[in-house]
Amino acid sequence: MHVGVLALQGDVIEHRRVLDALGAHPLEVRTAADLERVDGLIIPGGESTTIGKLMVKYGLDLAVPERARAGMPVYGTCAGMILLARTVRGGEPPLLRLMDITVVRNAYGRQVDSFEADLDVPALGPPPMRAVFIRAPVLEAAGPGVEVLASLDGRPVLVREGHLLASSFHPELVPDDRVHRLFLEMIRASARRGEGLPGSRRE
Ligand code: GLN
Repeated sequence: MHVGVLALQGDVIEHRRVLDALGAHPLEVRTAADLERVDGLIIPGGESTTIGKLMVKYGLDLAVPERARAGMPVYGTCAGMILLARTVRGGEPPLLRLMDITVVRNAYGRQVDSFEADLDVPALGPPPMRAVFIRAPVLEAAGPGVEVLASLDGRPVLVREGHLLASSFHPELVPDDRVHRLFLEMIRASARRGEGLPGSRRE
């Protein structure tokens, strides 16, 4: 299994390290040709405007939704969640529009308001997960097909919609690989269904 990490800007090395340790053969994705070689994609945290502009430059604003619509699992963390959202408030227009969520950029506050919190994530079991929020987006609304896996102060912070996963926090920055393991399980499930490979687009 090859897991892609979108490597245009942001927390690329941190995600690669976790995937390496899990034996998931990370590949850095910068072009549509790179994307053909992976079974799933992580869009890391960073700066969503910058990552989005580079995605457009390299044609990934079209290639990623095409693969995702064919069933390729995608996990967006923080800036990655902003790029996956169908509706974005407080910044650039939405880019990939793959998940039925509304996010508000930087709504947890400025860089100095970054914080950590312990999250109960029933799907991952005990103990609670330490989560790092860095100038994070607030997930303001989610459609009926979106499953809330964890919340903080009544706001969803980890959500899944079919083969798509998003978190407003950064699991690559803590020594707890359970969210990455969950994403790898989603990729295995997609492969078992025969989905997600280049050219297997469902009509
Ligand atoms: N504030 C960033 C943005 O709006 C996201 C921050 C992050 O990914 N840690 O793009």
